[in-house]
Parts: sequence; structure tokens; C-alpha cells
Amino acid sequence: MGTPYKDYYKILGVDQKATESEIKTAFRKAARKYHPDLHIKSEKAEAEEKFKEINEAYAVLGDPEKRSQYDLLGTNTQNGQQWQPSPDMGGYGSRSWSQTDTDGFSDFFESLFGRQMPGNNRGGPGKTRSVRGQDLDSELELTLEEACHGGKKSLQFSFRGLCPSCGGTGVSGQKTCLKCGGTGSRKVVRTLDVNIPAFIRGGSKIRLKGQGGEGPANGNSGDLLLTVKILPNSNFTLNGSDLETIIKIRPEQAVLGGQIPVPTMDGEVILTIPPMVHNGKKLRMRSKGWLEKEGNRGDEIVKIMIDIPRFVSPAEKEIYQRLADLEKEVHKL
Ligand SMILES: [Zn+2]
Repeated sequence: MGTPYKDYYKILGVDQKATESEIKTAFRKAARKYHPDLHIKSEKAEAEEKFKEINEAYAVLGDPEKRSQYDLLGTNTQNGQQWQPSPDMGGYGSRSWSQTDTDGFSDFFESLFGRQMPGNNRGGPGKTRSVRGQDLDSELELTLEEACHGGKKSLQFSFRGLCPSCGGTGVSGQKTCLKCGGTGSRKVVRTLDVNIPAFIRGGSKIRLKGQGGEGPANGNSGDLLLTVKILPNSNFTLNGSDLETIIKIRPEQAVLGGQIPVPTMDGEVILTIPPMVHNGKKLRMRSKGWLEKEGNRGDEIVKIMIDIPRFVSPAEKEIYQRLADLEKEVHKL
């Protein structure tokens, strides 16, 4: 009984004379293309199969010793054709290759190189199957105050990570991995403390090295790329480097002027309103805005809105009446 022959060169799409680096490049490209995490559900199974095959091909062609053994088989066999090891190749079956995780590889591979112990492929010169994990994107929502002051913020996010049981292959031994049901992935929820620089702006990116998806077969993890989103704030609008806010004052304050408390990013500040201020007038508070690239801070622009009190006491109403009578007299003159 034979096993289907595997043309590893064809699987990786490289020439038989390909250099080590050409093989490596081809493998990386193919592994990225067929990584099961990058495929939608209906394509997952097919991608997984392909991904496994690519890893197997690279485990052989990426290892000079295995490659030369494989090359000895010659080129007369087609991919998928039944193949049987010749009796003079008997030795290989008993050899053990501790540096490569070959769990779940094909019968063809096993008949050539023997059944090998999985999970012993950390480090060492023979580490051949490592692919860097995926970069992940996520959003970091900040209040305007958080964005202004910066500091640490705890962020929880989830993603589909590699199944630790099968390393993303979906198979364990020769069977479907029970931990992930053969999908090769599992939901990972991660909580991170993110360092936020002060005066960060919406749309800015924060890269967290190594916090992305795990690399298959102990490859380096990808990065997590956070895009800052500033939550809308009812008190402030950031316009360039200026923070804009609206302050309501009463009619007599508009006429007489006065001192009113105004919120700023640095806490409440008393603003002096000049007399006879008109509705819509903008008052500028220096250096209470956003930090500019040049190191200066923008301003806070306070827009005045004259508001009528909801309730007036009889005494106040009497004063308004006297004011109205006075106005009539003035206009008669
Ligand atoms: Zn699994």
C-alpha cells in the first residue's frame, strides 16, 4: 500500500533549484495567504488544508537535510500519485527530528521521515515553521479629558487567536482537534494597560508590539494597532488646537459684566466678562487648548450665550418692569 506523493516544490510554487531564501519567501507568502484566521467561514476548511500542506512542504524544503533526502526520491513522481518507500530507504522511518512540529502531517511525510514528536520546536537552528502572527486592529475610545491628560487606560479586546492545542492546524494527531473543533482558532479576550500620550488626537495610531495574533508554531506575535477615537463631549469641541465651549450668562451679567466660572481641561477657571457683552461674543482664554506640535498650547474659546432665567421672583419682575418703563421714556425723548 502506498501513500499519495507530495510535490513539495509545486505546493510552495518554487523551482527545484530554488535557493533557501527563495523557499523561505515563497513559504511566508503562501502561509499568509492561506492562514485560516484570514479566511471567512466557508473558505476556512480549504484554507486550513492548504495551510497544513504548506507547512509540511516547508518543514521539508526549509530544512537542508530533509530537502536532500526528499530530492533523492527523484522527480519522476507526480503530485498525488501513489508512492511507496523503497526498501533501501528503511532507515528514515525510525529517525526523529526533534526540532520540527510535524503533528498532523501527511502519511507521505511520515513514511519519509517517520512519525515525530510534536511540541518540541522552540528555538534552535532547525526552527523552520515560524510565521509572524497577524497584526490586529482595534479602536481605543477616549473621552476628551483622557485624550488631553494621557496616562494609562485599561483596554479589553477580543480576537480569534490560534488554538494552543493544535497550533492552528485544526488537527491533533490524525484527528480533528477537540479543543477548537478543527477550526484552528479560539476566541481570545485580552486586557491591556495602554499608555496614552497627553494631547493625543482622534485618528492617531498606537502600536503595541507583540500584542497581536500569535504566530503559528511559536512564531513571533503580530502587533496590535489601536486607532484613537475621541468620544463626543457636550461641553467642548476641539477645533484645530483650540477648544471651543459655550457659556450661558444672564442679561444683567451681559450688561454689567462680571466673573463667571468656566470649565477647562485643567479644571474650573474664573473668567472675567466685560460689560456690554453681546450674544455670540467669543472670549479667548490663552493656553487652555490643545498642545501644538511646536510646543505651544492653543486657546479655549468661550462663546457667550445670553440666557433668560427660567423663573423670576416678583421683585425681579418688578425691576424688569421698571426697566421696560424706563426704556419707553428714553425712546420718547
Ligand atoms: Zn485546535
